[in-house]
Amino acid sequence: MANVKQPLLFRNKDVSTVNSSDGTFRSLEKSGRPNRQKEKVHGLKDRSQGLRKSLNDSLEEDIRDFLINEAELHTYDDLTKVNPVTPSTVLKCLQARYSAKVFYTHAGCTLVALNPFQPIPHLYSLDVMREYHTAPQPQEFKPHIFIVAEEAYRNVQGQVEPINQSLVVSGESGAGKTWTSRCLMKYYATVAASSQKCQDTVEKIERRVLDSNPVMEAFGNACTLRNSNSSRFGKYIQLQLNSSQLLVGASVQTYLLEKTRVAFQAPTERNFHIFYQMMKGATEKQRLEWMLPLEQDFAWLPHAEKPLEEDCLQETVEAMINLGIDEGKRTQVFRILAGLLQLGNVDFSPASEEAQPCELDGHSKGFLGKAADLLQVSLDELQSCLTVRTLRAGKQSVLKPCSQSECGVRRDCLAKVIYAQLFDWLVTFINNSMCADNSMWCNFIGLLDVYGFECFLLNNLEQLCINYANEKLQQHFVAHYLKAQQEEYVTEGLQWSFIRYQDNQGCLDLIEGSPSSIFSLLNEECRLNRASDATQFRVRLQKELLDNSSISWDKLSKEPHFTVAHYAGNVSYQIEGMMEKNKDPVPPEIISLLQKSQDSLLHSLFAEDDRESEGSRKHSKVVTVVSKFKNSLESLMKILHSTTPHYTRCIKPNPDCRPLTFKKEEVIVQLEACGIVETINISAAGFPIRIPYGSFLQRYGMIANTKLTAQINRADISFSHFFLSLMNTVLIIM
Ligand code: ADP
Ligand code: MG
Repeated sequence: MANVKQPLLFRNKDVSTVNSSDGTFRSLEKSGRPNRQKEKVHGLKDRSQGLRKSLNDSLEEDIRDFLINEAELHTYDDLTKVNPVTPSTVLKCLQARYSAKVFYTHAGCTLVALNPFQPIPHLYSLDVMREYHTAPQPQEFKPHIFIVAEEAYRNVQGQVEPINQSLVVSGESGAGKTWTSRCLMKYYATVAASSQKCQDTVEKIERRVLDSNPVMEAFGNACTLRNSNSSRFGKYIQLQLNSSQLLVGASVQTYLLEKTRVAFQAPTERNFHIFYQMMKGATEKQRLEWMLPLEQDFAWLPHAEKPLEEDCLQETVEAMINLGIDEGKRTQVFRILAGLLQLGNVDFSPASEEAQPCELDGHSKGFLGKAADLLQVSLDELQSCLTVRTLRAGKQSVLKPCSQSECGVRRDCLAKVIYAQLFDWLVTFINNSMCADNSMWCNFIGLLDVYGFECFLLNNLEQLCINYANEKLQQHFVAHYLKAQQEEYVTEGLQWSFIRYQDNQGCLDLIEGSPSSIFSLLNEECRLNRASDATQFRVRLQKELLDNSSISWDKLSKEPHFTVAHYAGNVSYQIEGMMEKNKDPVPPEIISLLQKSQDSLLHSLFAEDDRESEGSRKHSKVVTVVSKFKNSLESLMKILHSTTPHYTRCIKPNPDCRPLTFKKEEVIVQLEACGIVETINISAAGFPIRIPYGSFLQRYGMIANTKLTAQINRADISFSHFFLSLMNTVLIIM
């Protein structure tokens, strides 16, 4: 696990004088409550004494001191008030709040959201939204996701010019990211709504923005071991605002859908929700049309008996209707999906005669026939594309039967490529339906909900990509808050002792850097189309990445693998299968089969123009999975860097998703993984309130003494000198 260093935190008196302008020192009296009278004089001293002590004394002693205030722990609505700040004290405070059913806590510049795992009545009602929205100072209210939402909303207007905002929601699977994003969307759809003039269009857009959720979740979420409604893709949604701050549209970008799930589900997991919705919610007529009799078992539909509230076809269909997906298109979508389910029941048997393609028993043949019917392709061509490969040598082509296992791989590949294209089509449709014309909007608030850090018993390319995305986000956070904030203090001439933080650049260099990194070596193997096995690749990695301390190898392990020291912990990745996954090859026979489909939707998904990378594969460079993912993440990071970010850290209080159960061991790992202690320390020691010189002057200028004003008028003193003198005047008055 990441070694979160105990921070050094000392500040001198000069700095305290400046900071006390807003009376926001976070020191505590013995009772645990901030004493604003006294803190101006003693606050900093108390705090640095406490922290110095935490460096010298044992953790137990820290906690003993801290426990004096245990009865009031739940009242600390900002973790910067905890004194001393250690992982244990922070944990205690969060636990106390969770027991008191308080789920949000500020951690300086971030918000910590604990998942209650049960509906909390009234916490997210329209009235509460309006309260936060109309409050002159919402930050004085109890911590809430609506404070973050409102702050971003007000920030869009900016002091000088409008600034786009991003709300980054992070946390592990089941921590509450998607729930939080949905909640934020509802907030903006409510507060940024209803202008009298264009009520109709605005309302329509809000509805569509909200309806994009059930549709994308039906197709992109699944029940996993860790979350019964786990998002199997990442998304960044931009809510487009016009100059009057009204929501006029939205666009969504998705990342790395876990398409393998269509054809493979881990033993306790399920396929995407949409398949179960169809199975459970079809009318008699649809059941006939989709060839899904109730009594039929489908291999790709495990755990269908599990009752899940997500299995509601009605809601998905209504949302599709609201998004403008007409009946014809919906029918096509559902027929294609039903076709995939039939494919899953097709098995291959070895040929009875040598050099002949694999055979299908009567059972499998029946399912293949239904699949061909639903996908509107020729049965013979479908069977031959699954069982025979065409080898080309110059102008000659030779047909070669596939082995039994190769046939299975081709069947799965067919299902995956169709599902992935269908998902992309859906996202494009949703975008066309929600996106405002460029002339109609001027700013956006972006909501980022990406899969959290993953570490399973077996990890492969999917986890490497997901964890790489989390490293990128962590770097953005570190760069933005920890590094930039401290550098700004130095630029502003404030005396400041640097707080050490964990920089993950080394790990990112290992994964994506050049000339040698895991990604570059993987791509090279794929480009050269070398048939090197996993052991050879491991040797190569070992040789090329010898100097990087973020990678290690367990020599005793039988399976070739490598271990990456991520900021959130060590993860071992299997090498077996990684290169193939990176290439993600789609046999050309499959593409040409789908291009010939009589179903206009399926046909359009694979139309020549849209399939540049697949169709012209032989001529062009192979576009690997990691290259595509790296590029899309880079664009995302560019957008994030151009916006003002707001971070929410979702925490999963127990692994079993049980209501109101707080497991300390689970939570501490998550707190350490997101560097919460470092964040709190920098926020607590820093200057959380920043007023631009101009606004400060406007607000407090009237109390400046006339001598000073005269001086600045004559330009005898610099503006910052004037500012500091004025600040002192303000302090004396306060
Ligand atoms: P993630 O997207 O981080 O994997 P989800 O947002 O899907 O996790 O949350 C998992 C489950 O936790 C949700 O389905 C919901 O039941 C519950 N949950 C999350 N946040 C809240 C909340 N604020 N209030 C009530 N239940 C919540
Ligand atoms: Mg999610």
